[in-house]
Amino acid sequence: MAYGLAMAKGMLTTLKHLRRPPITVQFPEEERDIPPRARTNLVWFVERCTGCSTCAQACPDGCILVETDPREDGSYLVKRYEIDFRLCMYCGLCAEACPYEAIQVGGSYTNVVTDPTELYVDKDRLIGQANEYLEKHDWVYPNGQKAIRQTVHAPSERQHH
Ligand code: SF4
Ligand code: SF4
Repeated sequence: MAYGLAMAKGMLTTLKHLRRPPITVQFPEEERDIPPRARTNLVWFVERCTGCSTCAQACPDGCILVETDPREDGSYLVKRYEIDFRLCMYCGLCAEACPYEAIQVGGSYTNVVTDPTELYVDKDRLIGQANEYLEKHDWVYPNGQKAIRQTVHAPSERQHH
């Protein structure tokens, strides 16, 4: 008798789940919604960056390179900003250290590569990735603030205009 009851309960559970929509998604065609601040990746926003290098100093793996030129007004022009994702462990310490939230955790978790050298990402590519992020997220940064710009063109793109 107890066995029959257990069977019936099991069948009921099965029937209940049959009526529910599937919770799986057809990756990679479909992507699951993830919280904007999930530590999926790093996104660098050139328009917020002062070139102070605090992020590079905070990185335990030494995978951020910042090169600047002083401007006459005392600010810095960020000539190079590069991240070596071959070394990055996605700890987020750079993002925590940045006083201007110019580098933030979030962004794509699907940028898989077959050539590891592609994981060395320079300023132009970082700008492209940030643009892509903002275009997809209604011009809101991962930290929830409204973006202070529309698309910023990477220097190499600007030369064509
Ligand atoms: S996430 Fe961590 S390891 Fe990666 S660049 Fe930032 S501080 Fe360095
Ligand atoms: S990302 Fe932040 S910490 Fe790094 S150089 Fe730019 S402003 Fe400074």
